[in-house]
Amino acid sequence: MSFTLAIVGRPNVGKSTLFNRLVGKRLALVDDQPGVTRDLREGAARLGDLRFTVIDTAGLEDATDASLQGRMRRLTERAVEMADICLFLIDARAGVTPVDETVADILRRRGGQVILAANKSEGRAADAGVIEAYSLGFGEPVRMSAEHGEGLNDLLSQLMPIADAYAERERSDRSEAPETDIDVDADAEPDAPRIPTRERPLQIAVVGRPNAGKSTLVNALLGEDRLLTGPEAGITRDAISVTMEWGGVPVRIFDTAGMRKKAKVQEKLEKLSVSDGLRAVKFAEVVIVLLDAAIPFESQDLRIADLAEREGRAVVIAVNKWDAEEDKSRKIIELREACERLLPQLRGLRLVTVSALTGKGLDRLRETVIGAHDVWNRRVTTAKLNQWLSGMVEAHPPPAPGGRRIKLRYMTQAKTRPPGFVVMCSNPEKMSDSYTRYLVNGLRETFDMPGTPIRLWMRSQA
Ligand code: GDP
Ligand code: GDP
Repeated sequence: MSFTLAIVGRPNVGKSTLFNRLVGKRLALVDDQPGVTRDLREGAARLGDLRFTVIDTAGLEDATDASLQGRMRRLTERAVEMADICLFLIDARAGVTPVDETVADILRRRGGQVILAANKSEGRAADAGVIEAYSLGFGEPVRMSAEHGEGLNDLLSQLMPIADAYAERERSDRSEAPETDIDVDADAEPDAPRIPTRERPLQIAVVGRPNAGKSTLVNALLGEDRLLTGPEAGITRDAISVTMEWGGVPVRIFDTAGMRKKAKVQEKLEKLSVSDGLRAVKFAEVVIVLLDAAIPFESQDLRIADLAEREGRAVVIAVNKWDAEEDKSRKIIELREACERLLPQLRGLRLVTVSALTGKGLDRLRETVIGAHDVWNRRVTTAKLNQWLSGMVEAHPPPAPGGRRIKLRYMTQAKTRPPGFVVMCSNPEKMSDSYTRYLVNGLRETFDMPGTPIRLWMRSQA
């Protein structure tokens, strides 16, 4: 059937609260094999449209201190064994504790998919803990409050592609084996098993308005007209992926174009392509936003680029149908200008002109995608960052709300994919957006990170 999610974490982080919220009254008792499942609760969960099984390591609070660690380890290991995906909960108010680290070790050793969630995140008291959560190495935490029912949508959107991949895998298990190089990826979530990422193919999605030329482009990249001959059951609904190599780098392209076929009715098209885009963006590390050169940067194109930025994906803009353009040199200047003006959140965005029809520009597109992925993974040393920071402050001091200048003390890179930085300062809540932008733009220029989302958090020293 569907997938099984285990909620793991140390006692008191809110696992049961979340479990109850997901299961409601639909609690199903587990078969009580002696000693195996007694401490594990299992229930039929519902979140949005998703149905899945949820396991909770209940009963930990009864443990005495001495026995707690061992017991927690055994229970967590058992839950993890039974699950397809783990939801790793921490208490954002308490921050990351050594016991959280123990849980993280268990999860890392096991590999597989982990979603990290910072619970008890209602209100600002949780901000520091949410940032600390990055240090666990499971990527961006989902901010949530199990008690108040907040953040469940974010959890849902993390689970959606995983659920789709499971549904797809079941379908293809049942039907014939798919063609050799058309496969559906079960661990498509880019951040999911964050260890080791090198041998995993670089995940790419091609998104854009209907008729931009997505299918033509994906077929051209494949070199053969075989994309739309994939397993029919999957192609009408879920993202289909195709794996290939670009200059020795394994890449995997997700195609959602087939999904358009669902919408026979014209007026549904706009809405559908946005939600298709959303799904594809979730799968991807690099998102190629494909524009039609004749009608570039329409609102739908901008929405999808913005979505990719907010999801923290690397973005490349490809302008298609370049073969049909008359005044190419004038047009490229206009496009660059429009890009900087309309997508300031992705300053320096890479823009490539292509013709999916003739194949022109595709080599450069491949190089640009690989380059954007490198930037997205970039790590800057703490020493360099702090040297840079003092220069920035000297050139342009931070604001002084109420006459008291905000002091920027120290900075470090908290994460990659996309790059995220933490700046320790006094009165972080009073920091102005314009100064934050100044720093983000400076980071982009100095450390050569064009076109990638950059996250910057201001934090007071705890
Ligand atoms: P478990 O031991 O991990 O299963 O944790 P519980 O679900 O029993 O929750 C531990 C405590 O945290 C309880 O007092 C909950 O009411 C509280 N709690 C759970 N979720 C939240 C939340 O989102 N915000 C806050 N402030 N408290 C929460
Ligand atoms: P999708 O809806 O984004 O998948 O778009 P399609 O790949 O189905 O292409 C829509 C139309 O644009 C088709 O008629 C294609 O032949 C045409 N098209 C795609 N790429 C190009 C191109 O590079 N140049 C020109 N002139 N037409 C193209």
